[in-house]
Amino acid sequence: MKRRDLIGAGLGAAALGSLAGCKQSDCETTTGHVSSKKLQWKMVTTWPPNFPALGTGATFLADMISRLSGGRLTVKVYGAGELVPAFEVFDAVSAGTAQMGHGSAYYWKGKIPEAQFFSSVPFGLTAQEMSGWLYFGGGMELWREVYAPYGLLPFDAGNTTVQTAGWFNKEINSVADLKGLKMRIPGLGGEVLRRLGVTVQNIPGGELFQALNDGTIDATEWVGPYNDLAFGLHKAAKYCYYPGWHEPGSVLECMVNKQAFDELPEDLQAIVEAACRVTSQNMVAEFTARNDRALQTLRNEHGADIRPLPVEVLEAIKGVADTVASEVGQTNAMAGRIFESYSTYRDGVDQWTAIAERAFLNARG
Ligand code: CA
Repeated sequence: MKRRDLIGAGLGAAALGSLAGCKQSDCETTTGHVSSKKLQWKMVTTWPPNFPALGTGATFLADMISRLSGGRLTVKVYGAGELVPAFEVFDAVSAGTAQMGHGSAYYWKGKIPEAQFFSSVPFGLTAQEMSGWLYFGGGMELWREVYAPYGLLPFDAGNTTVQTAGWFNKEINSVADLKGLKMRIPGLGGEVLRRLGVTVQNIPGGELFQALNDGTIDATEWVGPYNDLAFGLHKAAKYCYYPGWHEPGSVLECMVNKQAFDELPEDLQAIVEAACRVTSQNMVAEFTARNDRALQTLRNEHGADIRPLPVEVLEAIKGVADTVASEVGQTNAMAGRIFESYSTYRDGVDQWTAIAERAFLNARG
């Protein structure tokens, strides 16, 4: 009889313990993975249910945890508003209403300004560089320190890769063209453009098409071709500009209630951690492939005008962006330590990227 048949027959942990040749209590404390006890967690997310790549990424993570654990830990995913509203995910996981949450750290900037360094910074790190900082450059330790007072344990669980600069109803040929432009762009990117004369608005994703289509706004950033095509933004605006200087590699986070995590046996803790890393890698692959296909559709089937921002405009934006990021670093002592770590790493890794990715991609042409 196979082991799973024994579980199915309801013999449970005691039977498995005796099969393994030890008392049940010994087995559970020494190996930590003999118990057949099944746990069910809730994951609240900041995404609408099944939202392309991001919401489906959260579902992928839940499925991966269930599969890797052989069903010992299953996770039910709740879209934004199904259990708690999008912007209450942080508090809900902190309070233990749900054991996990999926979102992005810059949503919590009102509470923790320095959290923005763990999602995306204008002219900051790419997805690949960000992984380097988090896992080998001290970033993850700092992130854990920031979330610890809230009883939360953060994990990297996704990345959008480089986004586009957005969809515009007028041409941007100079910095002067930014003046008076009504644009939806949240976060640090929005603050940068505000200082260059843009009237910055924050509109929920679901209302973007309408706002752009009826002229409430002149421009909006969103994600990239895959998500933008799904929203039909090409039907509401003439020009799509690149690159997404404001979000060069936005990290998606999985936050776990620390007490719930500590109560897991060690192997399930490792499974949660591993599932987050697999989800991150999977999302980078998905965005890369799907953005490519969507870009071709936008160009070839819809005739979208996709063009680069002028160098002069990008240089002006960059001048302001560095100031805005350093101001966040001055908010408090922890923010200062994170800014220092992030900036030092970025300046260093940029030298390697220059002779590796950048040099190679230029050569590939
Ligand atoms: Ca965006």
